[in-house]
Amino acid sequence: MSCIFCRIAGGEIPAEIVAKDEQTVAFLDIAPLADGHTVIVPARHVATIEEMDAGEAHALFRAVQRLAGPVRRAVGAAGNTIGINDGAATGQTIPHVHVHIVPRREGDGAGSVHTIFRHGTRRPIAEVGKEIRKALG
Ligand code: AMP
Ligand code: ZN
Repeated sequence: MSCIFCRIAGGEIPAEIVAKDEQTVAFLDIAPLADGHTVIVPARHVATIEEMDAGEAHALFRAVQRLAGPVRRAVGAAGNTIGINDGAATGQTIPHVHVHIVPRREGDGAGSVHTIFRHGTRRPIAEVGKEIRKALG
């Protein structure tokens, strides 16, 4: 088992675990972007969101929702940026799904999710909407 998050979930290597249930494990990021930076992973190895089943998706988001308040309050933050790098092209470095909860403070200098993107769109919204509805089937 070479996946580092599988090894944390399986108790093979140490991590600062803050919560655990049958389907998820939450632990503190080893290189925190802010105090309280937490990552939540499904217990089973799944590389991307698209590979998760409905039960895992439910359990993962439920864990995020359950942890958001306690993580934020524990470090006295005003809010959280909650995000997923989904796929290598997005900067995902560990190919095991993980949700980042990063506590935020007024004036901490970090931007919103919108600040990740510098380039505008190329296609009309309505055209893209049509393509997505078609892809959904
Ligand atoms: P991402 O760039 O979304 O793939 O994020 C991976 C995150 O995992 C990074 O923020 C790393 O700091 C974190 N990380 C890597 N190894 C460990 C570890 N052993 N324990 C906790 N967090 C880790
Ligand atoms: Zn894994």
